[in-house]
Amino acid sequence: MTNLLLATTENTDNQNSQYTPLNDPEIAGVVAHINEEHLDELLGFLSVFTSLSTAELDLVDAQITDIYAEGIAIQTCPKGVENQSTAAQNSSLYNQTFFIAFAAPISQLDDLQAQYILLKQRADKKLGKKTIKLTKQVFEVQNSYRISKNMLRLELSMPSLSDVEGAKSSTSVPTNEAGYAYLFDLEHNAMTNALITDSTDGNKAGDYKTNDSEKENVRPARPHCYYTLRKAWQADDEIRAWVDVFLHGDTPGGNWATALQAGETVVTKREFPEKVEHLRDGQAVLIVDETSMPTAARLLELWNNPTPPLVVCVTQDAGDQSYFDNVKMRSGLDCDTESREDNHFTVLPIVTNQPNSGAELATLIDSKLGDYLTENPLQIDKVWGALEANTAKALRPLLKDRLGLSRIDVVVKVYWRHD
Ligand SMILES: Cc1cc2nc3c(=O)[nH]c(=O)nc-3n(C[C@H](O)[C@H](O)[C@H](O)COP(=O)(O)OP(=O)(O)OC[C@H]3O[C@@H](n4cnc5c(N)ncnc54)[C@H](O)[C@@H]3O)c2cc1C
Repeated sequence: MTNLLLATTENTDNQNSQYTPLNDPEIAGVVAHINEEHLDELLGFLSVFTSLSTAELDLVDAQITDIYAEGIAIQTCPKGVENQSTAAQNSSLYNQTFFIAFAAPISQLDDLQAQYILLKQRADKKLGKKTIKLTKQVFEVQNSYRISKNMLRLELSMPSLSDVEGAKSSTSVPTNEAGYAYLFDLEHNAMTNALITDSTDGNKAGDYKTNDSEKENVRPARPHCYYTLRKAWQADDEIRAWVDVFLHGDTPGGNWATALQAGETVVTKREFPEKVEHLRDGQAVLIVDETSMPTAARLLELWNNPTPPLVVCVTQDAGDQSYFDNVKMRSGLDCDTESREDNHFTVLPIVTNQPNSGAELATLIDSKLGDYLTENPLQIDKVWGALEANTAKALRPLLKDRLGLSRIDVVVKVYWRHD
């Protein structure tokens, strides 16, 4: 299989003649999205599938220039320059184009995700990194209740797996990771509920399955939704888990979570780890809205850095600021007992009274952080955050400028998109 992942250096004209264009009007948007949000993955592909050395890769950024049926073209550009047209043209390292072949050609853009994930899995494996998994997991709902004004906690369980010696293992659900996310299958519950209603109405369950138009009627507006594993732990014969869902009106994810009853199953179809390794040292700031509070809470509980972080917590409603009240931060590993007393995190609350999206929110966060740092002089070394797409996009350059940090130390993820 590895021989399929040929990497060649060539110019774009050659590629055009050699590879099959997909001619899909959505390609430009997909390329822009990958270049904006997945730069580290592109650098990973160059590291694993080309002959570029680590030293060379340290000097460059990367961007996809096109997606073909057979693979993707990735071009090197000067570090920190996201727009190719403004890139300096005079280094031999820059503007090289590498072709990274898919394991199997695609015929339409819809097939890209599967091939991209395969590339990512192969690259992460070679780099020794945790990667995305396309496994199905089934949890049982135990309970659900509000933990702050608009945050619903789902308590879930899953039987422990037994290994060959009969010992219990919890490897199927990570108990020691912050920000581990699951893609929940909302259709599973819509279909199951329709099936139950249908059979209690006197129809045969099997008949329901064959009726495609009725199936279409129960399908939720959104087939799946990402939620974070807020916390998971081993308890007797099972794994227990919390998932915290922000309720913000009549939406598919919120309606799904609110309707869940004890004893029902929930199904996940994809899972992936969060990018938080850079937080092991230095003074960190975590910047969260309601969707990323669960990741930050678990990060604090598993805090693996002697210096406590500053948490910038943006909520629409003041009633959700209490989310962190009961979160206890673990002392950094290197902390001795004496310094533990001081080892607490600080929350800088921002209440907006409106949905937390858009570039204006980035400006607000940046200026509140600036004011805080003027009053409490701190040298911030690392940033982790997860926000709405336009907020994240606008915030990254503001933070890099304000804090004088490199891209690698400023991880601001997109957790949701405003319509
Ligand atoms: C890796 C990852 C982990 C995540 N973890 C969590 C988690 O633990 N808990 C959690 O609650 N969310 C989490 N999210 C975010 C969640 O997946 C999105 O907010 C998702 O859009 C919610 O779906 P929905 O059906 O409620 O709304 P959608 O169907 O996406 O949208 C319906 C409407 O609601 C608006 N909307 C969507 N999200 C928000 C929001 N957060 N605030 C205000 N308006 C919004 C949209 O603009 C739209 O108008 C995570 C996302 C990712 C990518």
